[in-house]
Amino acid sequence: MRQNGFTIWFTGLSGAGKSTISDRLVYKLSERGATRIEVLDGDVVRTNLSEGLGFSREDRDKNILRIGFVCELLSRNGVIAIAAAISPYREIRDKVRSLVGDFVEVYVKASMDTLVRRDVKGLYKKALAGELKNFTGVSDPYEPPLHPEVVLETDSEDSETSVNKLLSALERLGYLSRESLSLEKEDDEKMAGPLRSEARTRTDNRYSRDSKPAADLTPVPPHGGVLVNKFLAESGQNAVLDRIESFKSLTLSEREWSDIELIATGAYSPLTGFVGELDYRSIIENGRLSNGLAWTIPILLLVEGEEAKSLAASNELILRDNDGKKLALLHLTGIYKVDKEELTKRVWQTTDRNHPGVKDLFDEGNFALAGDIDVVRLGKCSNFREFRLTPLETRTYFKAKGWKTIAAFQTRNPVHRAHEYLQKVALESVDGLFLHPLVGETKGDDIPAAVRMECYMALLKNYYPADRVLLSVMPAAMRYAGPKEAIHHAIIRQNYGCTHFIVGRDHAGVGNYYGTYDAQKIFDGYDSGELRILPLKFEHTFYCRRCDGMASEKTCPHSQDERIILSGSKVRDRLRDGDELPKEFSRPEVVEILRQHYSHARVSSTHTGWI
Ligand SMILES: [Zn+2]
Repeated sequence: MRQNGFTIWFTGLSGAGKSTISDRLVYKLSERGATRIEVLDGDVVRTNLSEGLGFSREDRDKNILRIGFVCELLSRNGVIAIAAAISPYREIRDKVRSLVGDFVEVYVKASMDTLVRRDVKGLYKKALAGELKNFTGVSDPYEPPLHPEVVLETDSEDSETSVNKLLSALERLGYLSRESLSLEKEDDEKMAGPLRSEARTRTDNRYSRDSKPAADLTPVPPHGGVLVNKFLAESGQNAVLDRIESFKSLTLSEREWSDIELIATGAYSPLTGFVGELDYRSIIENGRLSNGLAWTIPILLLVEGEEAKSLAASNELILRDNDGKKLALLHLTGIYKVDKEELTKRVWQTTDRNHPGVKDLFDEGNFALAGDIDVVRLGKCSNFREFRLTPLETRTYFKAKGWKTIAAFQTRNPVHRAHEYLQKVALESVDGLFLHPLVGETKGDDIPAAVRMECYMALLKNYYPADRVLLSVMPAAMRYAGPKEAIHHAIIRQNYGCTHFIVGRDHAGVGNYYGTYDAQKIFDGYDSGELRILPLKFEHTFYCRRCDGMASEKTCPHSQDERIILSGSKVRDRLRDGDELPKEFSRPEVVEILRQHYSHARVSSTHTGWI
């Protein structure tokens, strides 16, 4: 086992389970071959390193800084340092985070009831009765972390579950190698809940706009500077659930839910909800929000006129999905009429109803509901769970890997050699590659997301350097808005922490609605610095027999006859008929997966990529 030093920082109230879990963690880490581990337990530290310090804020901070100092020394020297101290103050924890660098904050969480029940010394009871001063959580403040890497809920998890969850997070963050993936598989069902609930509870701050940026937003800041988080904290969730009957509610489509997920996780930063009329006008007229930030596609929640009328008097609306698994709150601040002809003309550059993006829009209502959202729960996504990383998670991963430059690749298509070539050309000059296929709704004849993911996994396994590539999924739906969507996709990837974005020909285009290079040219309309992610503009690529390798218009002087180029429809026909695809066009592993897909005759059904 390769061992790089890092710090695991447990924080949580006395009795939450920090020591128990850290002991168990040490055991598990040694089992995996880690030889250098040091635990700095709060109580032990107090009797030596911090002897004489009291419990005033100043002394507590001093204590934590000392532990942090030691953790930094240890981490720097290849040791896994584990700190288990209450560490009640956020500011000082964040200070330690920036001091240490490779820092995994683990929030060990338990309810007051549980803490009282576990407390054999009766200290909580005494504190609650006013007999104990400076008792954290009762007579002294505890500030839960806003963006911990891991949340362990010891009310409902046993220590084994918590430790496994933590190990899995360490793997995901790149601190542990994934040698023992079997652990994850066995615990798949158990893990499913925690991963989502971790995302939900990572949210003690509902007012993301007002918060300071998280401690580390390198190498590239989110669009607008702050990574938005619109998941409602637990207390807020309870308040909503208590009053839920008094709100009017609205049932949303999967497509609308994918927008909500992207707003909530910060992928659409700086948006905190569905755009108001001022932003709407500014986006479609200037390609910018009303505050001047680049933004090209208005994120709208559209309803019919009758519905708009019935909702007009509400301040808060409940948003649901069909089976009640997803729940969010919309703070309604305005309703406005959308002129679809104007909107599609300006954003999609066509009003042709045969255009799939335009058609989708015309199928929806004409009135837009504006307002911030708060997500109570997103439900369990049915697929790609382990690949569904949030911007915070990908940023943490990039940081742990030490990547300073990351190129993102977006696709809704299966990956052939041409795509692989672009990705690898990019990877020659950046630190890491972020493969981010779109798994939201796509049009019926696009290859289903599950099949595309299978192709990616086969490719990664056989042809890519595992430690330089991160595969994750983007829950967005396709809008097929060509150049405007290229900017939109780039902004999203900046929010996920990428510095570069691969833009091929006709990015996000469909049919012949957009010029071949429009999606690349549109980036020139924004000043340097408006977007902190740089487009990597690529030509069409292919295998050339004379070059005897992958090439492009830019590098190959030979004629079309020498090049192996197949159109999407030709590829489909060949796969359907069971014909071969040349290995210069597509890897045999990919061809096999696609062939199976076509032989199962699933193509005729209108398939939403959501699975
Ligand atoms: Zn050539």
